[in-house]
Amino acid sequence: MCRGPQPERTQYISASFTLRAQTAGMRIANLDGRLVLMGPDGALDVERASAGRFTSDPQAVYGRWDEFVDWVASAPDGPLTAVDEDRLGSPSPRPGQVFAIGLNYSEHAAESGFEVPDADPPVFTKFPACITGARGDVRLPPGGNTDWEVELVAVIGRRAFQVGRQQAWSHVAGLSVGQDLSERRSQMAGPSPQFSLAKSFPRFGPVGPWLVTLDEVADPDNLAIGATINGETVQQSRTNELIFDVPTIIEKLSAVVPLAPGDIVFTGTPAGVGMGRTPPRWLAAGDELVSYVEGIGELRHRFVA
Ligand code: ZN
Repeated sequence: MCRGPQPERTQYISASFTLRAQTAGMRIANLDGRLVLMGPDGALDVERASAGRFTSDPQAVYGRWDEFVDWVASAPDGPLTAVDEDRLGSPSPRPGQVFAIGLNYSEHAAESGFEVPDADPPVFTKFPACITGARGDVRLPPGGNTDWEVELVAVIGRRAFQVGRQQAWSHVAGLSVGQDLSERRSQMAGPSPQFSLAKSFPRFGPVGPWLVTLDEVADPDNLAIGATINGETVQQSRTNELIFDVPTIIEKLSAVVPLAPGDIVFTGTPAGVGMGRTPPRWLAAGDELVSYVEGIGELRHRFVA
Protein backbone atom coordinates (compact mmCIF):
# COMPACT_ATOMS: atom_id res chain seq x y z
CA MET A 1 0.00 0.00 0.00
CA CYS A 2 1.25 3.48 -0.67
CA ARG A 3 2.25 5.74 2.07
CA GLY A 4 0.05 8.75 1.55
CA PRO A 5 0.98 12.39 1.24
CA GLN A 6 3.84 13.72 3.33
CA PRO A 7 4.00 17.29 4.56
CA GLU A 8 6.32 19.19 2.25
CA ARG A 9 8.17 20.58 5.25
CA THR A 10 9.24 17.17 6.50
CA GLN A 11 10.71 16.31 3.13
CA TYR A 12 12.70 19.52 2.99
CA ILE A 13 13.95 19.23 6.52
CA SER A 14 15.32 15.76 6.29
CA ALA A 15 16.99 16.63 3.01
CA SER A 16 18.74 19.48 4.76
CA PHE A 17 19.99 17.31 7.59
CA THR A 18 21.04 14.63 5.10
CA LEU A 19 23.10 17.22 3.30
CA ARG A 20 24.81 18.23 6.49
CA ALA A 21 25.33 14.71 7.70
CA GLN A 22 26.35 13.42 4.26
CA THR A 23 25.07 9.90 4.70
CA ALA A 24 22.69 9.51 7.60
CA GLY A 25 19.23 11.03 7.79
CA MET A 26 17.35 12.39 10.70
CA ARG A 27 17.57 9.96 13.53
CA ILE A 28 16.94 10.95 17.12
CA ALA A 29 18.02 8.91 20.08
CA ASN A 30 17.98 8.83 23.85
CA LEU A 31 21.61 8.68 24.93
CA ASP A 32 21.97 8.35 28.70
CA GLY A 33 18.57 9.99 29.07
CA ARG A 34 19.45 12.97 26.86
CA LEU A 35 17.92 13.78 23.49
CA VAL A 36 20.49 13.60 20.68
CA LEU A 37 20.50 13.90 16.90
CA MET A 38 22.39 11.02 15.37
CA GLY A 39 24.91 11.65 12.62
CA PRO A 40 27.52 9.48 10.93
CA ASP A 41 30.30 10.88 13.11
CA GLY A 42 28.52 10.94 16.46
CA ALA A 43 25.62 12.39 18.36
CA LEU A 44 24.69 16.06 18.70
CA ASP A 45 23.25 16.97 22.11
CA VAL A 46 20.01 18.82 21.39
CA GLU A 47 19.81 20.90 24.57
CA ARG A 48 23.36 22.20 24.17
CA ALA A 49 23.20 22.71 20.40
CA SER A 50 19.92 24.60 20.77
CA ALA A 51 21.23 26.69 23.68
CA GLY A 52 18.43 25.40 25.86
CA ARG A 53 15.58 26.01 23.44
CA PHE A 54 14.82 22.30 23.62
CA THR A 55 15.26 20.43 26.87
CA SER A 56 17.41 17.33 27.23
CA ASP A 57 14.31 15.18 27.92
CA PRO A 58 13.67 12.94 24.88
CA GLN A 59 10.00 12.66 25.83
CA ALA A 60 9.43 16.40 25.63
CA VAL A 61 10.39 16.75 21.97
CA TYR A 62 7.25 15.08 20.60
CA GLY A 63 5.06 17.80 22.09
CA ARG A 64 6.98 20.34 19.99
CA TRP A 65 7.61 18.12 16.97
CA ASP A 66 6.94 20.68 14.20
CA GLU A 67 9.13 23.25 15.93
CA PHE A 68 11.86 20.66 16.40
CA VAL A 69 11.74 19.61 12.76
CA ASP A 70 12.10 23.29 11.78
CA TRP A 71 15.11 23.62 14.07
CA VAL A 72 16.76 20.54 12.56
CA ALA A 73 16.29 22.16 9.15
CA SER A 74 18.46 25.03 10.29
CA ALA A 75 21.40 22.57 10.31
CA PRO A 76 22.34 22.91 13.98
CA ASP A 77 25.93 22.19 14.82
CA GLY A 78 28.08 21.56 17.84
CA PRO A 79 30.49 19.10 19.39
CA LEU A 80 29.66 15.48 18.65
CA THR A 81 29.83 12.71 21.22
CA ALA A 82 30.56 9.07 20.49
CA VAL A 83 27.56 6.77 20.77
CA ASP A 84 27.84 3.77 23.06
CA GLU A 85 24.85 1.70 21.96
CA ASP A 86 24.63 0.11 25.40
CA ARG A 87 23.55 3.51 26.70
CA LEU A 88 20.62 4.06 24.34
CA GLY A 89 17.24 4.32 26.03
CA SER A 90 13.91 4.23 24.22
CA PRO A 91 13.52 7.24 21.90
CA SER A 92 10.14 7.70 23.62
CA PRO A 93 10.93 6.59 27.17
CA ARG A 94 7.71 7.61 28.96
CA PRO A 95 4.89 7.49 26.41
CA GLY A 96 1.46 8.47 27.66
CA GLN A 97 -0.04 5.53 25.81
CA VAL A 98 1.32 2.34 24.29
CA PHE A 99 -0.85 0.56 21.76
CA ALA A 100 -0.17 -2.93 20.50
CA ILE A 101 -1.87 -4.81 17.69
CA GLY A 102 -2.38 -8.57 17.77
CA LEU A 103 -2.65 -11.08 14.91
CA ASN A 104 -1.55 -8.61 12.24
CA TYR A 105 0.35 -11.05 10.01
CA SER A 106 -1.71 -13.93 8.62
CA GLU A 107 0.93 -16.61 9.20
CA HIS A 108 1.27 -15.48 12.82
CA ALA A 109 -2.52 -15.60 13.28
CA ALA A 110 -2.44 -19.15 11.92
CA GLU A 111 0.40 -20.29 14.18
CA SER A 112 -1.47 -18.77 17.15
CA GLY A 113 -4.59 -20.80 16.27
CA PHE A 114 -6.76 -17.79 15.42
CA GLU A 115 -8.70 -16.66 12.38
CA VAL A 116 -7.20 -13.77 10.46
CA PRO A 117 -9.05 -10.69 11.73
CA ASP A 118 -11.21 -9.12 9.03
CA ALA A 119 -12.68 -5.81 10.10
CA ASP A 120 -10.75 -5.01 13.26
CA PRO A 121 -7.50 -6.26 14.80
CA PRO A 122 -7.22 -7.03 18.52
CA VAL A 123 -5.77 -4.09 20.43
CA PHE A 124 -4.09 -4.18 23.84
CA THR A 125 -1.51 -2.17 25.77
CA LYS A 126 1.92 -2.72 27.16
CA PHE A 127 1.97 -0.63 30.33
CA PRO A 128 4.47 2.19 29.84
CA ALA A 129 6.63 1.09 32.80
CA CYS A 130 7.95 -1.80 30.67
CA ILE A 131 9.43 0.43 27.97
CA THR A 132 13.21 0.16 27.76
CA GLY A 133 16.06 0.72 25.31
CA ALA A 134 17.94 -1.15 22.63
CA ARG A 135 20.42 -3.11 24.71
CA GLY A 136 20.81 -4.84 28.03
CA ASP A 137 19.66 -7.76 30.15
CA VAL A 138 16.05 -8.78 30.64
CA ARG A 139 15.09 -10.88 33.65
CA LEU A 140 12.90 -13.90 32.88
CA PRO A 141 9.88 -14.06 35.22
CA PRO A 142 10.28 -17.18 37.40
CA GLY A 143 8.08 -20.04 36.29
CA GLY A 144 7.08 -18.21 33.15
CA ASN A 145 7.20 -18.98 29.45
CA THR A 146 8.75 -15.92 27.88
CA ASP A 147 8.33 -15.46 24.15
CA TRP A 148 9.65 -13.04 21.52
CA GLU A 149 7.74 -10.80 19.05
CA VAL A 150 9.71 -8.45 16.83
CA GLU A 151 7.57 -5.52 15.63
CA LEU A 152 7.72 -2.33 13.64
CA VAL A 153 6.95 0.54 16.01
CA ALA A 154 5.50 3.93 15.08
CA VAL A 155 5.89 6.95 17.38
CA ILE A 156 3.24 9.67 17.14
CA GLY A 157 4.48 13.19 16.37
CA ARG A 158 1.23 15.08 15.93
CA ARG A 159 -2.04 14.58 17.83
CA ALA A 160 -4.34 12.26 15.91
CA PHE A 161 -8.06 12.00 16.58
CA GLN A 162 -10.44 10.60 13.97
CA VAL A 163 -7.72 10.70 11.34
CA GLY A 164 -8.28 8.88 8.05
CA ARG A 165 -5.64 6.60 6.63
CA GLN A 166 -4.77 9.07 3.87
CA GLN A 167 -3.55 11.57 6.48
CA ALA A 168 -2.25 9.07 9.00
CA TRP A 169 1.45 9.05 8.10
CA SER A 170 1.64 12.80 8.64
CA HIS A 171 0.86 12.18 12.34
CA VAL A 172 3.85 9.84 12.74
CA ALA A 173 7.16 11.31 13.96
CA GLY A 174 9.07 8.24 12.85
CA LEU A 175 9.68 4.54 13.11
CA SER A 176 11.61 2.33 15.47
CA VAL A 177 12.15 -1.34 16.22
CA GLY A 178 10.14 -2.91 19.02
CA GLN A 179 10.16 -6.21 20.87
CA ASP A 180 6.80 -7.21 22.36
CA LEU A 181 8.15 -9.66 24.95
CA SER A 182 5.32 -11.81 26.24
CA GLU A 183 4.98 -14.17 29.19
CA ARG A 184 2.61 -16.78 27.77
CA ARG A 185 1.70 -18.60 30.99
CA SER A 186 0.03 -15.56 32.58
CA GLN A 187 -1.18 -14.35 29.17
CA MET A 188 -3.20 -17.52 28.61
CA ALA A 189 -4.19 -18.26 32.24
CA GLY A 190 -7.68 -17.57 33.50
CA PRO A 191 -11.11 -17.72 31.90
CA SER A 192 -10.16 -15.33 29.08
CA PRO A 193 -6.65 -14.52 27.85
CA GLN A 194 -5.31 -11.26 29.23
CA PHE A 195 -2.55 -9.72 27.20
CA SER A 196 -1.51 -6.44 28.76
CA LEU A 197 -0.16 -7.54 32.13
CA ALA A 198 1.64 -10.57 30.69
CA LYS A 199 3.45 -8.30 28.24
CA SER A 200 4.49 -5.67 30.80
CA PHE A 201 7.09 -7.29 33.06
CA PRO A 202 10.12 -5.05 33.66
CA ARG A 203 11.94 -4.33 30.37
CA PHE A 204 9.43 -6.32 28.33
CA GLY A 205 9.00 -3.36 25.95
CA PRO A 206 12.31 -2.62 24.24
CA VAL A 207 12.10 0.14 21.63
CA GLY A 208 15.02 1.55 19.65
CA PRO A 209 17.81 1.85 18.85
CA TRP A 210 16.57 5.28 17.68
CA LEU A 211 13.69 6.94 15.92
CA VAL A 212 14.09 7.26 12.14
CA THR A 213 12.01 9.74 10.15
CA LEU A 214 9.84 8.30 7.39
CA ASP A 215 11.78 9.65 4.45
CA GLU A 216 14.94 7.96 5.68
CA VAL A 217 13.62 4.48 4.97
CA ALA A 218 13.13 3.26 1.42
CA ASP A 219 9.46 2.37 1.82
CA PRO A 220 7.97 2.38 5.33
CA ASP A 221 5.24 0.01 4.13
CA ASN A 222 7.69 -2.64 2.91
CA LEU A 223 10.65 -3.25 5.23
CA ALA A 224 12.41 -6.49 6.09
CA ILE A 225 11.74 -7.45 9.72
CA GLY A 226 13.07 -10.33 11.77
CA ALA A 227 14.66 -11.76 14.87
CA THR A 228 17.43 -14.18 15.76
CA ILE A 229 18.20 -16.12 18.93
CA ASN A 230 21.88 -16.87 19.44
CA GLY A 231 22.35 -16.26 15.72
CA GLU A 232 19.54 -18.57 14.58
CA THR A 233 16.80 -16.90 12.54
CA VAL A 234 13.44 -17.33 14.26
CA GLN A 235 11.36 -14.63 12.56
CA GLN A 236 11.77 -13.24 9.03
CA SER A 237 9.15 -11.30 7.10
CA ARG A 238 8.36 -7.94 5.52
CA THR A 239 6.06 -5.18 6.74
CA ASN A 240 4.06 -5.32 3.49
CA GLU A 241 2.64 -8.53 4.98
CA LEU A 242 0.84 -6.51 7.65
CA ILE A 243 -2.90 -7.17 7.43
CA PHE A 244 -3.60 -3.69 8.83
CA ASP A 245 -0.83 -1.33 7.74
CA VAL A 246 0.34 1.62 9.84
CA PRO A 247 -2.10 4.17 8.32
CA THR A 248 -5.00 1.79 8.83
CA ILE A 249 -3.96 1.11 12.43
CA ILE A 250 -3.84 4.86 13.12
CA GLU A 251 -7.23 5.32 11.49
CA LYS A 252 -8.75 2.57 13.65
CA LEU A 253 -7.10 3.59 16.94
CA SER A 254 -7.76 7.30 16.47
CA ALA A 255 -11.39 6.65 15.64
CA VAL A 256 -11.78 5.92 19.35
CA VAL A 257 -8.81 7.34 21.28
CA PRO A 258 -6.91 10.58 20.66
CA LEU A 259 -3.28 9.67 19.97
CA ALA A 260 -0.85 12.08 21.58
CA PRO A 261 2.69 13.06 20.61
CA GLY A 262 5.12 10.48 21.95
CA ASP A 263 2.58 7.66 22.04
CA ILE A 264 4.00 4.33 20.83
CA VAL A 265 2.26 1.89 18.51
CA PHE A 266 3.50 -1.72 18.28
CA THR A 267 2.13 -2.91 14.95
CA GLY A 268 2.13 -6.70 15.40
CA THR A 269 4.56 -9.55 14.92
CA PRO A 270 5.18 -11.92 12.00
CA ALA A 271 5.22 -15.71 12.29
CA GLY A 272 7.96 -17.57 14.12
CA VAL A 273 7.22 -16.93 17.78
CA GLY A 274 8.01 -19.64 20.34
CA MET A 275 4.37 -20.32 21.18
CA GLY A 276 3.65 -21.32 17.59
CA ARG A 277 6.26 -24.12 17.56
CA THR A 278 5.92 -27.82 18.24
CA PRO A 279 7.04 -28.23 20.93
CA PRO A 280 6.85 -24.60 22.08
CA ARG A 281 10.16 -22.84 22.59
CA TRP A 282 10.76 -20.22 25.26
CA LEU A 283 13.59 -17.83 25.93
CA ALA A 284 16.16 -19.27 28.33
CA ALA A 285 18.79 -17.70 30.56
CA GLY A 286 21.84 -16.85 28.47
CA ASP A 287 19.91 -16.46 25.20
CA GLU A 288 20.70 -13.41 23.09
CA LEU A 289 17.76 -12.05 21.12
CA VAL A 290 18.41 -9.70 18.20
CA SER A 291 15.41 -7.89 16.68
CA TYR A 292 15.76 -5.84 13.50
CA VAL A 293 13.88 -3.78 10.94
CA GLU A 294 15.50 -2.86 7.64
CA GLY A 295 16.65 0.75 7.40
CA ILE A 296 16.13 1.37 11.13
CA GLY A 297 18.49 -0.82 13.14
CA GLU A 298 18.54 -3.62 15.66
CA LEU A 299 17.86 -4.36 19.30
CA ARG A 300 20.07 -6.78 21.21
CA HIS A 301 19.02 -8.25 24.56
CA ARG A 302 20.32 -11.02 26.78
CA PHE A 303 18.04 -12.95 29.11
CA VAL A 304 18.93 -13.73 32.70
CA ALA A 305 17.28 -15.91 35.31
ZN1 ZN B 1 2.89 -8.28 19.66
